[in-house]
Amino acid sequence: MDKKEIIKEIIRVSHYIYNKNLAPGKSGNISARFEENGLQKVAITRSGVAKKNVAEEDVIIIDLDGNVLEGNQRPSSETLLHLEVYKNRDDINGIVHGHPPYSTGFSMSNKPLKWLEGFGEIKKAFIPSVKYSKPGSRELAENTAEVMKNEDMVVLKNHGIVAAGMNLDEAITMAEFIEDIAKTQFVASILDLTD
Ligand SMILES: [Zn+2]
Repeated sequence: MDKKEIIKEIIRVSHYIYNKNLAPGKSGNISARFEENGLQKVAITRSGVAKKNVAEEDVIIIDLDGNVLEGNQRPSSETLLHLEVYKNRDDINGIVHGHPPYSTGFSMSNKPLKWLEGFGEIKKAFIPSVKYSKPGSRELAENTAEVMKNEDMVVLKNHGIVAAGMNLDEAITMAEFIEDIAKTQFVASILDLTD
């Protein structure tokens, strides 16, 4: 995809994840990596915008070091997290971060999020969790990127989720997958209580 298409895709996915309640309020950020004139660039949502309202001017183009190349607004407060994940993973070109209520609820509890179904072979029992660091911090970015060297989706302790894919569409599929797992596990746990 070229830059124009990438920006369109970020707008589409922003509205979609808001409507799916994966990024309530002004939470959440979305990015996609693309190449232009032989340079790797990242398009990312700006900070402080509800995802339902994202328009062309809310998508900021940056380089892999976080320098703003195009756009008049400040890029997302979790920009560093996105960039650190891209730097470790050549196969990832789309990242979604959000605070969906069920999986975020699990992140605030002592219950790990179980894998209840899988794409292909289920290799593990739980979706990995990244230990708590302040949102927007370098520590959170580095810890998340470290865990995501081998994972496409993680839970951020007391915060939310990050899902990545070879493109943005794949990334939202993973984000929806985590939230659906959390809903299913929540229902199962309530049913167990009423046995
Ligand atoms: Zn967040």
